[in-house]
Amino acid sequence: MQLPLQFSIFAFILGTVVGSFLNVCICRLPEGKSIVSPPSACPKCGQQIRWYENIPIISFLVLRAKCRSCSLPISWRYPLVEALNGLLTLLLFLKFGVSLSFLALFIFCSSLVVITFIDLDHQIIPDEISLPGIVIGFLFAIFLPWNGWFNSLLGILLGGGSLFLVAWGYEKLTGKEGMGGGDIKLLAMMGAFLGWSSVLFIIFAASLIGSVIGITAMLVQKKDGKLAIPFGPFLAFGAILYIFYGRQIIFWYFSIGRL
Ligand SMILES: [Zn+2]
Repeated sequence: MQLPLQFSIFAFILGTVVGSFLNVCICRLPEGKSIVSPPSACPKCGQQIRWYENIPIISFLVLRAKCRSCSLPISWRYPLVEALNGLLTLLLFLKFGVSLSFLALFIFCSSLVVITFIDLDHQIIPDEISLPGIVIGFLFAIFLPWNGWFNSLLGILLGGGSLFLVAWGYEKLTGKEGMGGGDIKLLAMMGAFLGWSSVLFIIFAASLIGSVIGITAMLVQKKDGKLAIPFGPFLAFGAILYIFYGRQIIFWYFSIGRL
């Protein structure tokens, strides 16, 4: 189905507007503050941010990355999160069109953006997102032909269970806690949204990318494995990779095995 260009532009804008709200969640959720009130204000001078200063990406450029009244620099992370969510929404729209799959995965990917940045900042994955995410993913799955409630339920069990086993084994072997309970709940949420077959793919992809980046970081910083890198962002990356390329990568992998 060929969709008009305006639809794609609308999808991107929708993603950035939601991205603007995700920024609020990233800032406020870890501090236990409300995500609906008060309205956004400059953290230094308290100047309220007007609606026309809250236009995703554009306002950042127009204000030249500074607060209008006190010139406090605005972090480049705000437009980055907006642009990232806009891009993800556009890609989902191009793949799924106007459909229930799009809605489910739009909610899923937006949650992953919030989780990624909170995990990078605080090394936690908020239960406020992962636990409702498990339920919402399961409810969507009932109506999605490519998932289904049984597939989703297996995904929750496999996602929660397998990472729990890995974490338990790691702790038994090394006496150190390597993986948090947050990662386990996150993977259960991913299993709920994407089904059980996604879980192994996501663990494999996240471990592979995580190891490469972890080893590189250790070599650069010359530390001896004490460096704590949050695992959540790698799981999120693995899940997004699965949505867009999972089938192709799995097919490619098994076709090499047969050569
Ligand atoms: Zn200010």
